[in-house]
Amino acid sequence: MNPTAGRHVVVVGAGITGLSAAHRLMVDRPGLEVTVLEAAPAAGGRLVTTPFAGLPVDEGADSFLMSVPWAADLCTELGLSDELVAPSARSASLWLDERLRPIPAGSVLGLPLDPAMVQPGLLPEADLRRLAGPGLPEKRLPAGDGPAGDLSIGEVIRSCAGDAVLERLVDPLLGGVNAGLADEMSCASMTPQFLRAARSDDGLLATLRIATAGADPAAPIFNAHPAGMAHLIETLVERLAHRVRTNQRVLSITADENRWLIDLDNGTETADAVVVTTPAPVAATLVKAACPRAATTLRGIRHASVSLAAVAYRRSDLEVPADQSGFLVPRGSDMLMTACSFAGSKWSHLDDGEHTILRVSAGRIDDDRSSHMDDDTLVTALRRDLSTTLGVKAGPTAARVTRWPDSLAQFPVGHRRQMAEMLLGLNQDAPGLFVTGSAHNGVGIPACVRSGSDAAAAVSELLG
Ligand SMILES: Cc1cc2nc3c(=O)[nH]c(=O)nc-3n(C[C@H](O)[C@H](O)[C@H](O)COP(=O)(O)OP(=O)(O)OC[C@H]3O[C@@H](n4cnc5c(N)ncnc54)[C@H](O)[C@@H]3O)c2cc1C
Repeated sequence: MNPTAGRHVVVVGAGITGLSAAHRLMVDRPGLEVTVLEAAPAAGGRLVTTPFAGLPVDEGADSFLMSVPWAADLCTELGLSDELVAPSARSASLWLDERLRPIPAGSVLGLPLDPAMVQPGLLPEADLRRLAGPGLPEKRLPAGDGPAGDLSIGEVIRSCAGDAVLERLVDPLLGGVNAGLADEMSCASMTPQFLRAARSDDGLLATLRIATAGADPAAPIFNAHPAGMAHLIETLVERLAHRVRTNQRVLSITADENRWLIDLDNGTETADAVVVTTPAPVAATLVKAACPRAATTLRGIRHASVSLAAVAYRRSDLEVPADQSGFLVPRGSDMLMTACSFAGSKWSHLDDGEHTILRVSAGRIDDDRSSHMDDDTLVTALRRDLSTTLGVKAGPTAARVTRWPDSLAQFPVGHRRQMAEMLLGLNQDAPGLFVTGSAHNGVGIPACVRSGSDAAAAVSELLG
């Protein structure tokens, strides 16, 4: 007999994490009743694609990493892998010393493994000499936090490669992706390969050189869908069918003997297990009654707010290099923008031959200026930055601003240990109530798919 037949699991939130969890449960545990409750009128959360300048331009994430398996595997399972596309432009630059300078070829998350690839003048001689060596720490690395011996990315890179490598290359890249500060970011959570390599006897750089030696330089780092990331969501929603219910805001979750009561604006659901996949601050409110200590941990997770502007220029007013995907702007450069992606150079499906479409980001954990500007003021400020960096003086033919308040979770040193303790507390105080999402294993889409699948596996184990 199927032990899950007739049992009900509620997933709260229909972003990529919640839909991945629900899909996993639906496929792996036939007979289990699965319901996804989503507060918004549509599923997708931070994955939103809308037409801009007549093209499907994403308002948030536009692609996912291929160097880790979870999102790619999900696409294969959904029959989407043949439709995925790789970026046409692979190299990117940094706005340094008042000009665009290429990120050294062969870098791993901004860390150059070969000093010969570093443009003259980009790094001081002392750092270049260190980059030619094995990357052993200046002094023995401290024991760090928890069993993983977690340190900040800043501590690791400063010690093994030099301050300028951290400040001019690694921080702009990692800080750009996560809107955070590499000096505060957990190396175990964000770049575990750096931590392992830095703690090895061979040294950070030597270990990474060996690890990347066989890698195919032409293999795409990212993939996207030509219809936008929303296509992944639409496919999942289609598979999950009636199981996904939108306009269903969950207000509270309480235990009732061995069932869970899920209160909504317009009724109550009961379930044998609940998987909460909302952003951490909402999850904190929802689990507070059942597990106050988990709520405290979730409430303590800091989030950066970011704004993303899509801007379209006539091609005659702005031409960008076809072989460049865009550039990052390090902190301290006196600009509002943190990154600029050349959408049409990066993705051929966003090149209509007539326009140059840019996706320009602003906002970091230590810079909330863009959140306090109205859309017109923000676009004006970003146009000023584009004039400085790309020299464009003409006005755009279209601009669209999307706000993502408190959207990018920060992973401080010790985050993994904290999350493990939080999940242990939840398991003890509230068995059957699970919390996951982008604040757990990482904010990237692959990490979210993994988090959803892990939660589904934990539910399966609980239900037998
Ligand atoms: C501007 C930006 C660009 C990004 N770019 C990339 C990229 O290129 N590649 C990449 O891999 N990642 C990128 N990311 C990160 C990635 O998009 C997110 O981390 C990921 O989409 C989060 O998914 P999630 O399902 O965990 O959360 P969400 O997408 O936030 O989903 C949570 C869902 O819960 C719902 N919800 C909230 N409260 C309730 C409630 N009370 N009841 C019911 N439902 C509720 C919300 O409406 C939402 O739909 C980017 C993020 C941002 C902000």
